Amino acid sequence: MSAAPAIPFFNYPAMFKRDEDKIMSVLRDVLGRGAFILQKDLEEFEGNLRDYLGVKYAFGVADGTNALILGLKAAGIGPGDEVIVPSHTYIASAASIHLVGAKPVLAEMSPDHMLDPFSVESKITDRTAAIMPVQLNGRTCDMDALQTIADQNDLLIVEDAAQGLGSKFKGKCAGTFGAFGTFSFYPAKVLGSFGDGGAIVTNDDRIAREVSLLRDHGRDETGRVIAWGTNSRLDNVQAAVLLHKFKTYDKDVERRREIAGKYDNALSGINDITLPPGPDGDPRHFDVYQNYEIEAGRRDALRQFLTDNGVGTLIQWGGTAVHMHHELGFVESMPVTDKFFERCFMLPMHTALSDSEVDRICDLIHGFYRQAG
Ligand SMILES: *Cc1c(COP(=O)(O)O)cnc(C)c1O
Repeated sequence: MSAAPAIPFFNYPAMFKRDEDKIMSVLRDVLGRGAFILQKDLEEFEGNLRDYLGVKYAFGVADGTNALILGLKAAGIGPGDEVIVPSHTYIASAASIHLVGAKPVLAEMSPDHMLDPFSVESKITDRTAAIMPVQLNGRTCDMDALQTIADQNDLLIVEDAAQGLGSKFKGKCAGTFGAFGTFSFYPAKVLGSFGDGGAIVTNDDRIAREVSLLRDHGRDETGRVIAWGTNSRLDNVQAAVLLHKFKTYDKDVERRREIAGKYDNALSGINDITLPPGPDGDPRHFDVYQNYEIEAGRRDALRQFLTDNGVGTLIQWGGTAVHMHHELGFVESMPVTDKFFERCFMLPMHTALSDSEVDRICDLIHGFYRQAG
């Protein structure tokens, strides 16, 4: 239809090109020092994470999934335990629970897309050991409601904040509410590395000690093996890249919030569409917009129209919530989450996106509904 340049859903090459010189000098420096495993760049990055989040300990680990597995192990969760987790999350959240020998128990989502406290309450049994809020799409759950339930039932809170670095609820950062919190630096995450990466943060001395041993073969500061451990370290090269990118993190988050605000303004009048909470919608929440996930009644036709006009969109996790993975033994029905997955998809959201591209996406969506009636 038009000759306007395509707007891909995500644009790794453009993100690299914008910062190529600085990134190459970071890489040249690290490679020139031969600093690959558990080196000063990682230590410095961990320090920055601690300061940024206001937390006592931070450990870089292999990826966000390993962060969850190590955290759960360190918190003593294992066989016989149940952990309540939303079905509206990536399979990794539930898989980590399964992989430490515990049982993931799935709960429904609220209208703001987050774990529903009422559903959580209905899933508690005498085996429940923890609640795993997932700080999804760059938003933090209503942690007051979840903390109240945890306190009343003597449960741990363990946070999957893979999508929530810098997101806050009542001024407190995602990842810092419970026994531990985890982050992912998968390339498409708000803070993305050039491969896999993750981190685990905690204020708990015992959990911190366990994680430090678990991630490095059970070795203490002197190199002596004093416990069973595995290999799950954030590569120092990735840490150096993340350290560099972290310098502009607040600016990057501001830009994402600006783009979310533009989407919110331009699309809020369309009846067929349900938008995520806007950047200034609720003073308790500070969202970092890992994703801009909307719902549309005529989703598939709208997505096709956008594709035909050069705009890439994506349905998160290939359109599957956790409970839809019947091969893994899930049998429960989750009507709220099912309904959501018939309607949800994500618009482009990243810092290489220009204002005119956002305008064009919004114009196209308006055009679709004008044409479709
Ligand atoms: C990305 C992600 C993970 C897993 O992180 P990896 O670094 O890819 O292992 C876990 N949970 C959620 C919600 C995620 O989005």
